Amino acid sequence: MIRITNIKLPLDHTENQLQQEILSTLKISQNQLIDFTIFRRGFDARNNKNISLLYTIDVTSKNEVGLLKKHSKNQNVRATPDMSYKYVAQAPENLNDRPVVVGFGPCGIFIGLVLAEMGYKPIILDRGKEVRERTKDTFGFWRTRTLNTESNVQFGEGGAGTFSDGKLWTQINDKKHYGRKVLNDFVDAGAPEEILYVSKPHIGTFKLVGMVEKMRAKIIELGGEIRFSSRVDDLHITDGQITGLTLSNGQQINSKHIALATGHSARDTFEMLYKKGVYIEAKPFSIGFRIEHNQSSIDEVLFGKNAGNPILGAADYKLVHHCKNGRSVYSFCMCPGGTVVAATSEENRVVTNGMSQYSRNERNANSAIVVGIEPSDYPDDSPLAGVELQRQLETAAYHLGGENYDAPAQLVGDYLDNKPSAILGKVEPSYKPGVKLTDLTQILPDYCREAIQEAIPAFNKKIRGFALKDAMLTGVETRTSSPVSIKRGADYQSINTKGLYPAGEGAGYAGGIMSAAIDGIRIAEAMALAINEKNE
Ligand code: FAD
Repeated sequence: MIRITNIKLPLDHTENQLQQEILSTLKISQNQLIDFTIFRRGFDARNNKNISLLYTIDVTSKNEVGLLKKHSKNQNVRATPDMSYKYVAQAPENLNDRPVVVGFGPCGIFIGLVLAEMGYKPIILDRGKEVRERTKDTFGFWRTRTLNTESNVQFGEGGAGTFSDGKLWTQINDKKHYGRKVLNDFVDAGAPEEILYVSKPHIGTFKLVGMVEKMRAKIIELGGEIRFSSRVDDLHITDGQITGLTLSNGQQINSKHIALATGHSARDTFEMLYKKGVYIEAKPFSIGFRIEHNQSSIDEVLFGKNAGNPILGAADYKLVHHCKNGRSVYSFCMCPGGTVVAATSEENRVVTNGMSQYSRNERNANSAIVVGIEPSDYPDDSPLAGVELQRQLETAAYHLGGENYDAPAQLVGDYLDNKPSAILGKVEPSYKPGVKLTDLTQILPDYCREAIQEAIPAFNKKIRGFALKDAMLTGVETRTSSPVSIKRGADYQSINTKGLYPAGEGAGYAGGIMSAAIDGIRIAEAMALAINEKNE
């Protein structure tokens, strides 16, 4: 097959125009073309009066070898790469040490799935409940303010990304095309086929729930085992080698191959690792607020008269501003047509995040507006000092919100003018259970307030109306990425604990669903190869 990149056509082009473009790029006639499929479709809306679609197309034609030779100087015409996934190992028949995977978020799911596909029958443990039960607990918390600390937005089957926008793109280097396997597996589990070709695929919460169940079923069918409400409270380490673990119910499991994919919110697990002497370091992350605007006004500014076009969907944005005080402020986890959600996993703390459904049909656009911070900003030198800072901010938000899990909130105009908010404006906040209007200017360190107060007007120059007086801020946004890094070596094992595979976002090796899933594949491969070496 031949892959053609950078085919640019108007938003309202016809199928025939696309075909003509293929023929003219390859300089072939209609009867030479056998078939073509869209590998990727994106759009360029930098000029909203003239939005164009950008295609990458895979073409089957007569005489492909000759055509590739003829177009060898054209960067946009290349042989389609082989993106199929190849397993690196197969479990030995006398497998004597079943691998264990801790955490069933995107990373743990893919460690478990790939190990199961290679025949390793993994034992997978998650502290939370299976996804339907977890959904009841999570939505229940948003309605009734009763938090289950083991079953919530952060913990339980599917991991942190389950109640999310389900954005599936990543900018990580993926030379081995693992991302393609992830997307294919998601489609097999019920994701819409379009995730295979749209440039910014997303799934939305309800579809994710069904997919997670199907992936669990597949792992079990392949001989894997998944245990919920099974929190890992201790690791057994002898002479620098992992030998097993203890669950919260006292049960012990022996294994010399344990993947730790526990996400960025497993603070008790970080503490346990630290006490056990597993090497961890404090790492940078970001803090700030959620901002909400009406989605229709964002669509109008970014898409002009094309707002509402189904190919474009609800508009998203990505913003960054480098501030005079040396800090950077950026938008993060933008959820078009979504809602702001209560994302704490600890009692008496308030954390915001965002989610949406596949339709992205809710009234508001939300994103985190966050400031990058470094370990030198943390309260002390401990590897866990970032966790301490997160807790301080989340506790302060709980108090400022009225101590009932309402989020403290402020109108953007008031935040910029340093005065508390008293009445809501045109943008109705979507955070449940509710918000308390207050003054957010004191909650973050001064350098963050300065930076955000400088960045929002700067963002307004890129998206007119971004600094709208009535836009809403809710806080605090602290779980942007892991505050620690659990260091691993080239063999993917902890640098001081052999057989322990720190993985995914919690270990500092991923940020988002796709990169966590891709890291999961890498870890599964490393575990399989190491098991085979030891099993001989
Ligand atoms: P997690 O998904 O955090 O999974 C960790 C799992 O480990 C959890 O299931 C937890 O219960 C379990 N666990 C923790 N400690 C233990 C223990 N001691 N014993 C047993 N089990 C344990 N990313 C995107 O790419 N796109 C989005 O649209 C998006 N939206 C998001 C919206 C929200 C509300 C949130 C919270 C996150 C969102 N993210 C999004 C981020 C994304 O969810 C994470 O990057 C991703 O889930 C990380 O995957 P992971 O498998 O490394 O960890």
